[in-house]
Amino acid sequence: MRLYNSLTREKDLFIPRVEGKVSMYTCGPTVYHFAHIGNLRSYIMEDILEKYLRYIGYDVTRVMNITDVGHLTSDADTGEDKMLKGAKREHKTVMEIADFYTKAFFADCKKLNIKTPDVVEPATACIPEFIEMIKTLLEKGFAYEAGGNIYFDTSKLDKYYVFNDFTEDDLDVGVRETVEADNNKRNKADFVLWFTKSKFDDQELKWDSPFGLGYPGWHIECSCIAKKHLGEYLDLHCGGIDNAFPHHTNEIAQSESTFGHEWCKYWFHVHHLNTAGGKMSKSKGEFLTVSLLEERGFDPVVYRMFCLGSHYRKNLVFSWENLENAKVAYNKLVAKIAQLKEDPESKISSAALEEGRLKFKNALDNDLNTSLAVTALYDVLKLDTNDRTKLQLIAEFDTVLGLDLIAHAKALGADDKSEENSDIDPELVSYIKERIAARAAAKKAKNFAEADAIRAELLEKGITLVDKREGTEFIINK
Ligand code: AMP
Ligand code: ZN
Repeated sequence: MRLYNSLTREKDLFIPRVEGKVSMYTCGPTVYHFAHIGNLRSYIMEDILEKYLRYIGYDVTRVMNITDVGHLTSDADTGEDKMLKGAKREHKTVMEIADFYTKAFFADCKKLNIKTPDVVEPATACIPEFIEMIKTLLEKGFAYEAGGNIYFDTSKLDKYYVFNDFTEDDLDVGVRETVEADNNKRNKADFVLWFTKSKFDDQELKWDSPFGLGYPGWHIECSCIAKKHLGEYLDLHCGGIDNAFPHHTNEIAQSESTFGHEWCKYWFHVHHLNTAGGKMSKSKGEFLTVSLLEERGFDPVVYRMFCLGSHYRKNLVFSWENLENAKVAYNKLVAKIAQLKEDPESKISSAALEEGRLKFKNALDNDLNTSLAVTALYDVLKLDTNDRTKLQLIAEFDTVLGLDLIAHAKALGADDKSEENSDIDPELVSYIKERIAARAAAKKAKNFAEADAIRAELLEKGITLVDKREGTEFIINK
């Protein structure tokens, strides 16, 4: 598989360190509010990547953090802790907010068929690990104390801006004019590892540490949680493109300075979901959630289909009209699949399986081209083979695409049958039911002649009775 790597800026051949195994880390949500559908675009595309790696045979271990402390309103360590802000907004404790929005996040993921990573770890559960890494960084001279806080010293690195695209000025993005610059920093790009002197005395969560009573910066959590569960080497690290700088840049600085070697080989960044007004963001306050999509009559998998239609390295513009188009496409696809008949007598064609799989794999092997993978799925319907083979391919592809196609097609098939019956004159139906009841009573009274006469009477009217264990059903012969 070739995957665009933000570190090399090339589509690199994906070769994990240990043959057959992939260690994968994902930056999780900051749980101070509901996830918006932009955040969820990132998680959908990462989910497809994970499932595709599994599909092509890798044994993937995926770890995700939950940010429940330390993420300030600006990614450059200024402003207020987002969790505290959420707690104030809702007059709750930080832990109540974290618990509520973590559950809400996974409920949304479930609706979108996003698999829960193998390990999910909240930042507040790993304070000893953070302290350990900060101690190492201080010992090795990569960190310093100033004004009560501990900072990472970016001037100690040969290369800090590893993703190339960024400069110091990018640190000002999202920083409000009202927020004062931190004069403790020796270099503008330095970042906080541990806060003790916070401008926010009401910071709810504080822990004892060798550096004083305080709380961790945002970036340290991902370095430590990845190390805790995946060791000193990572194959793949994922996140939205806004995480590349400063967050991922800082993660690399901390981890590589601690370990003394390269940390993660492949960096996968999903570009943004935008609205006509620009990037969707939680801090702007107004954003679209999965519940809102449902309220507007959209099945969440339709949003997944919408995301699959665009490459993850392109910004995607959301509009209700675009979502409606995805819904129409989804329903058409499901209707086509509903027409396929699972015939256990027919033989699966291995040649057709090969042909179908090849297209699907070519699409996803080329930097996870999901829209071509969906085209490969449509092409299955046109294959010159039996329905059983087609259904097998569709089910197989859907283990990666996660569109619930077979289940929706089956439900549609069942609806069609009830629609067929709803065409029947209700008076006729009640007459038949009444005669079936009379026949059952005759049988019970051992009056078999009467029972047979009722069956014959109905048959003459074109109605066949079928006795089943659950009761008698009828078929109207057309
Ligand atoms: P947060 O909860 O703010 O920490 O963000 C969770 C994930 O969503 C991160 O990987 C972000 O990079 C990503 N993200 C944030 N905004 C967007 C957006 N508009 N489109 C796609 N991904 C986003
Ligand atoms: Zn992270």
